[in-house]
Amino acid sequence: MALDPAIPDLSRYEQSNADVLLWQTRYRVLLAFLAAGSAVLLRTVGWLTVSPVAEAQLGATAADWLISLSALAYVCVVLLLHKRVQSMRRASRALATFMMVCDLLLVFVLVFVLAPARDYDRALLVALFALQLTHVYFGRGPALLMLGATATGYLFIVDIAIRSGADLAWSESFITLLIFAVGAGLVTLVQSHMHERLSRLLDMFARAEDGDFSASYDVQSDVRPDAITHVGRAYNRMRAHLADIVETDPLSGCLNRRGFEQQLRRELSRAARAQTELAIIDIDLDHFKQINDTFGHLAGDRVITEAGELLRANARVGDIVARTGGEEFSILAPGSGVAGAQHLALRIVEAFRRREFGDTLRIPVTASVGVVADTVTDEAIAEDLLARADEALYAAKRSGRNRVVVWSQGLAALRAGQPPERDARLAFPPDDTLGSNSMQELEPPRRVMGAGTFRR
Ligand code: GH3
Ligand code: MG
Ligand code: MG
Repeated sequence: MALDPAIPDLSRYEQSNADVLLWQTRYRVLLAFLAAGSAVLLRTVGWLTVSPVAEAQLGATAADWLISLSALAYVCVVLLLHKRVQSMRRASRALATFMMVCDLLLVFVLVFVLAPARDYDRALLVALFALQLTHVYFGRGPALLMLGATATGYLFIVDIAIRSGADLAWSESFITLLIFAVGAGLVTLVQSHMHERLSRLLDMFARAEDGDFSASYDVQSDVRPDAITHVGRAYNRMRAHLADIVETDPLSGCLNRRGFEQQLRRELSRAARAQTELAIIDIDLDHFKQINDTFGHLAGDRVITEAGELLRANARVGDIVARTGGEEFSILAPGSGVAGAQHLALRIVEAFRRREFGDTLRIPVTASVGVVADTVTDEAIAEDLLARADEALYAAKRSGRNRVVVWSQGLAALRAGQPPERDARLAFPPDDTLGSNSMQELEPPRRVMGAGTFRR
């Protein structure tokens, strides 16, 4: 069913109703002509008689006319509605239900005119089919309305028949109606259940379309597995695979930016619920352009791969490591306060300093790290946390690279080009020569490649 995403005002439900009503038109017209045409034909050749009740109430000629006129009126209503739906490109639930009630009316008129009173349950048979279709295409509400309309129509013609003296008892008619209602109720129940599960699946597919693979289909809740369960299982298998492809950065083996944002959203809502701390650690490799220029782009790639491995090896269980840019990484540390995050950041800077990269090329690489940690009171803090981590990283770059800076209020002034306040909490690589706690007193860090002008 093609839904037009270019029409934002139309609810998907009403667009879907419109689509269904439009394709059903030709079947409605065809069936109405077939039913009324064959009735008229069989009446003409004398194979079909008007029911005694209809004859008593209307007379044979009027009953014959009623067949043709009701079919004609029905087709006119169907075509008028078709035109209206086509121009509006939407159909409300009321409009869809009205169409189905018109179907029922035609069925009841034909049964009333042509079937003997004891065969009125033929109308219920047809209605059961219509009811199922209504539920499939328009949902439970319209289906329940149809159920009510069918019962009313049936009782109405039974009442006319009994008052005309037909051989029909209320007790039998009620039992017939009861059997129909139980059957229709069961059909509606099963359909509702399937509808619900399909909607859940559809919702998961819609989320996957936006790159969110967090939801999986709960196969366990399907007591009796059926086709929908199989689709759910297939989705679950595909989900793991797709999430891997879509959310992982192939070069570093870490999450990519999309994966990072997914995880950030998830961890933020978790932390907001529990009012716990969350830390973001931003890492940017120093003078990476020079690494590329000196050793070549392939060697640069190799460094990124090894940097990803290093970060994952140093992160703690539960930390989320992502490559968020070219030579930029972020670590999300749920439950980490400032002290824990700072400790991890120092360990990372130290790990960079201790090893060489690019296999046999033995390239020295250092990293600058910005750290922020805060208690998450609500999810709206995301932007703020990211901005603060970025500010801290900026400060780390500006103050000489190859170090850790923990965000504090004083850094905002630094970004604005003012000298940092003395309370800006800075943490440096665990090196005796860098044991200062103030940016002004910084010594050039060891093994930083080149001194070039800092740009971010
Ligand atoms: P800074 O210390 O200020 O961060 O210096 P920098 O040279 O690292 O600065 P910048 O962020 O401007 O440059 C990053 C460079 O990383 C630029 C780009 O050529 C390189 N780069 C980005 N993505 C990749 C990649 O996937 N592979 C390789 N080999 N290089 C990359
Ligand atoms: Mg960079
Ligand atoms: Mg860099």
